[in-house]
Amino acid sequence: MARTSPHLHADYDLPLPQIDMRDGVPHAMQFADSYYNADDGLAETRHVFLEGNDLPARMKAASHLTIGETGFGTGLNLLAVMAEMQNHPHCQIDFVSFEAQPLDAEMMAAAHAAFPQLAGLASQLRQALPPRWPGHHLVVLCGGRLTLHLHYGDMGAILPTLDIAVDCWFLDGFAPARNPSAWTADILSEVGRLTEIGGSFASFTAAGEVRRGLAAAGFAVAKSTGYGRKRDMIRGVREGTALPHVSSITASPRRIAIIGAGIAGAALAAGLSRRGAAPVLLDAAAGLASAASGNRAALQSPRLTVDHNAMSRLSAACLSWAARCSDAAGATLAAGVLALDAPDRMAARHAIFRQQRWPASLLRDADTVLDAETGKGIFYEYGRAIRPSILVKALAEGAEFHGDFDVASITMEAGQLVLGAVDSRQVQADAVVLAGGSRVADGLHLVGQDMPVEVTRGQVSHVPATSSSASLATGVSFGGYLTPSWDGLHEVGATFSRDLEQPEDIAAAHAHNLALLPAGIAGLFDGMTYDGLGLRTSYRASLADRRPVTGRIADKIWMFGGLGARGFTLAPLLGEMLAAQILNRPVPLPRDQRAGVAAARYLSQNTS
Ligand code: SAM
Repeated sequence: MARTSPHLHADYDLPLPQIDMRDGVPHAMQFADSYYNADDGLAETRHVFLEGNDLPARMKAASHLTIGETGFGTGLNLLAVMAEMQNHPHCQIDFVSFEAQPLDAEMMAAAHAAFPQLAGLASQLRQALPPRWPGHHLVVLCGGRLTLHLHYGDMGAILPTLDIAVDCWFLDGFAPARNPSAWTADILSEVGRLTEIGGSFASFTAAGEVRRGLAAAGFAVAKSTGYGRKRDMIRGVREGTALPHVSSITASPRRIAIIGAGIAGAALAAGLSRRGAAPVLLDAAAGLASAASGNRAALQSPRLTVDHNAMSRLSAACLSWAARCSDAAGATLAAGVLALDAPDRMAARHAIFRQQRWPASLLRDADTVLDAETGKGIFYEYGRAIRPSILVKALAEGAEFHGDFDVASITMEAGQLVLGAVDSRQVQADAVVLAGGSRVADGLHLVGQDMPVEVTRGQVSHVPATSSSASLATGVSFGGYLTPSWDGLHEVGATFSRDLEQPEDIAAAHAHNLALLPAGIAGLFDGMTYDGLGLRTSYRASLADRRPVTGRIADKIWMFGGLGARGFTLAPLLGEMLAAQILNRPVPLPRDQRAGVAAARYLSQNTS
């Protein structure tokens, strides 16, 4: 019997909402309710959600706030927050919102047209929208000051998987009588669980059941004057004792040394610098991306699993952000990756993926430029062929960089970490992150830790483009991979050699790589010989369970490694999440995904 995924029958394709525009205001036909007040949606948002949470005053006083919202809809509430942020240039926001029926950009544009005063911000949001896949999507707005976490799916299912401390909530899921699914006692109790003591909520509804649910969730609930014709709204403050899932908040480190300036270090640096910290990238090589991140071209593609486990879902979330990151950095060589149904083991996996009911923009049957037989496979629209050097440079932009800095010691002197280089240079920092790729074990050793890191040698062949291969418009994977040509050469890879004692056998590496090419693709390179082919060798690190490692491993010491051959797909999002963790900002990924990559799983003593 064919194996099927656990969500085979789930409604995994998110429905588009059925919207009827009435005098410029979107009306949800399913719920017979408007997304916002027909008289003046923006004024209502400002009155109910911003004033109702004292946000203008709190944004003036705070350097960072976390806002939660039940129902993203058109994004009008977010746009009102973005507009208010212009009055508070020092304030950063994490905005965590949930949406079961995401609008597409066109639907949003129709709604946004009624608010010309928000036009610039609204177009910024629409251009940054993620794909409509279930799960977490990162969106960075307002020049990096606003981190939007969009959770697509039913909030009743997602909220219990999170562990964040929200400062204020916008409770906005249509009228409770028309959409009780947004106001269940369980959801209101989750809202309470996820609110900082002293945090607040505001809502346009004053329904008795909602008031009682929020009171039971730990809020002191009060009625106040509603907007326009609405007599009442409600607002409230979270009472009680500290949240069990919020770790004792310590002062955030500011200057953070990152050992390793490849994709992991650079992605982390990007997340740290835009949150106001000062990352310092250190690398034993002279420049950025000199080791495993240094290939001329590389692919970003998801690593789905046949049982559609937490790591499969995380890899989709990572791809969503990685692809948009590459595009924004100008690092994209070609959009889309074609994963061939070859060799047989890939065909068997793909047969299962096709039954997993992924949205078509994540995974669909290929319709390719290759011939009909060879080209059968899966097309990942958000897969990318990229120029790693461009992506890494863009991500590392806000960091101080020290090249030729081979770290030989990490010591603590007068409360400061001191990193000493082989040539005796020194760098001071408040915290250190080990992100040294295949050399991460050296860093672990310096801080008295150990993990079963496996290093493999990977060799990539540089194959000259032929008149047939030059037209290849996407990356192709087939167990191995082939990039579109750049500067006259394709990358074909890669070897996985565990025996590092054996010297490199260049001819054998080329033979291995080219033998990976399925027959129809190898035909693109007819008549080619190995003579004079270029080759690049690097070393990757992975853990026994093939999952990344991110998190704290000792006091002030963090790790970001084990990315194997998937760094360009996984690091952009995981780097952002690790930056948030280091700086005590929310990490709103589902618990099973966080646990799957947590360093704690390899530590004898749980330090994270
Ligand atoms: N805040 C929005 C804005 O600024 O446009 C308006 C939100 S609208 C009143 C309510 C939204 O909640 C809709 O987009 C709806 O699809 C979403 N929603 C309702 N029930 C939901 C649920 N159980 N899970 C996730 N989203 C839900």
